[in-house]
Amino acid sequence: DLKMKKLSAVTKGCSNYISSPNSLRVFQWNILSQALGKENDNFAKCPDEALDWNHRKYLIIEEIIEYCPDIICLQEVDHFNFLKLVLATQGYTGMFFPKPDSPCFYIDGNNGPDGCAIFFRTNKFELLRTEARILEIWRIQSNQVALLMILKVKETGREICVVTTHLKAKHNALLATLRNEQGKDLLDFLKRNCGDRPVILAGDFNAEPVEPVYSTMLASEQNLASAYAECYANNDGLPSAAREPPYTTWKIRDAGEICHTIDYIFYSKNQLDVETVLEFPEGSEIGEARVPSLSYPSDHFSLVCDFRLRTNTFDSD
Ligand code: NDP
Ligand code: CA
Repeated sequence: DLKMKKLSAVTKGCSNYISSPNSLRVFQWNILSQALGKENDNFAKCPDEALDWNHRKYLIIEEIIEYCPDIICLQEVDHFNFLKLVLATQGYTGMFFPKPDSPCFYIDGNNGPDGCAIFFRTNKFELLRTEARILEIWRIQSNQVALLMILKVKETGREICVVTTHLKAKHNALLATLRNEQGKDLLDFLKRNCGDRPVILAGDFNAEPVEPVYSTMLASEQNLASAYAECYANNDGLPSAAREPPYTTWKIRDAGEICHTIDYIFYSKNQLDVETVLEFPEGSEIGEARVPSLSYPSDHFSLVCDFRLRTNTFDSD
């Protein structure tokens, strides 16, 4: 019975932690860009102090290393050098790819553009190749990006393809169409670079499960499924979209409360099995001002999933 479970926390830090070679713990999080969060988002009930970088940075690091993930996919990163320095002490290295015309550039006191980043544990993986892409919509470059890494599990030689993205924000019919076009371009990018390796595609898709881009991901040649939806599934025939959690972001802006699911970890269902996913805090735990808050640094929750690499690739679904 696959139920949502709390993963067991690894309390002694990540620097010497070794996970078994066929298990993959994936961490996905839109960390909330410092410049955007402070100057752009206008969270209506969030105290100013909660948005200070000196307050947020420790909470962000704590959240990332709490479960010692093997792979870390992040969006809205505008302090990559800080993350790289601190995560190096915990056994990680990573890469960053900025948005070409990041909205951060237009904010006073910005720390450079925001973008996507992937980190991985150096005692588990060797980096074989990195590719970055500015996503295209009808063959024209957009302001959204994707970052891809081919990683080799050192102990077994197995290769995996890890991809992260942050699709166009905001919600109307045209933007849903644009996100779907970005999704198609993303799948082409995977096809050209991942080959037949198992894929982990984690990101902020800015799209609820009813949007076309969600179906586009599931209909892909790469045989992708959504980790949280699969972990909730119980063979009653409901579609994947109906199985997604109720929210991955929960915030209050002047226009009201926004509580919906737009972040996902997609994976190759022929080559990987979902074992557990980390549940999100409940409304009563996060409080009525929602997030970000003094105790939680982003308006998005982190998604954490344990996968197992199938050792017999001829196994059926
Ligand atoms: P997106 O629509 O993809 O959004 C960019 C960021 O804004 C995302 O990180 C998103 O976060 C966040 N966001 C979404 N909704 C809101 C909201 N209601 N309030 C505050 N922040 C929000 O933008 P693009 O990257 O395509 O860039 C275009 C944007 O950049 C323009 O909308 C403009 O604001 C800004 N810009 C300004 C310029 C200028 O001032 N001269 C020039 C160029 C760009 P999330 O994904 O978490 O929702
Ligand atoms: Ca945001």
